[in-house]
Amino acid sequence: MNEVKRQATETMDELHQTIPYCSYCAVMDGLQEIETLRDRDEELEKLWAEFGDVPMNPETECIEAPFMGWGVGIHREEIWSWFDQRYSKGIAYLLYGGAEDYVPETKRLYGLRKRCFECESRSCQFNHDGECRFVLVHEREPQITEADGCIDYDYSEENT
Ligand code: SF4
Repeated sequence: MNEVKRQATETMDELHQTIPYCSYCAVMDGLQEIETLRDRDEELEKLWAEFGDVPMNPETECIEAPFMGWGVGIHREEIWSWFDQRYSKGIAYLLYGGAEDYVPETKRLYGLRKRCFECESRSCQFNHDGECRFVLVHEREPQITEADGCIDYDYSEENT
C-alpha cells in the first residue's frame, strides 16, 4: 500500500465512528481494491491525452496551465516521470503513440546507433566524445576519402 492510501485508510479508521457503516465500507472497499493493469493503463492513457492539451512554454518546457496536482511552471519532465512510474509500458510508449510507432522507431534508431564509429576529429560538430554521430543526423555514413579525409567534417567552436 502506498503512503497516500495508508493515510486515507488511517483517516477512515478515525472517521468510522461518525459515519454510517455502509459508507465506511464503500470507501474502504475502494481503497483496498487492486486495479488490473489494463484498467490503470487505460486511465493513464486518458490522462496522457489530456496532458497533451495543456499549453507548454516551448523554451522552458514548463506547463502554462495547471494540470492535475501540478501548478503552472512545472517542468514537463517531472510530469513525464510521474507517468513513467505508473504506466506499465513506460513513458516511451506514450511518447511514441503506442507499439506500432514505437517499436519500428526504436529499431531504426538502434540500427543507426550501431553505425557510429570512433573518430579523432573532436572539433567536428558531429563528434561526440570521440565518436562520429553523423549517421544519426543524416542517416548515412560520412564520406571519407584517401585524399581528403572526411568530406563531411564540419568545424564547431563548441567542440574545441
Ligand atoms: S563527420 Fe567526419 S570528421 Fe566529423 S565526426 Fe564524423 S567522421 Fe569524424
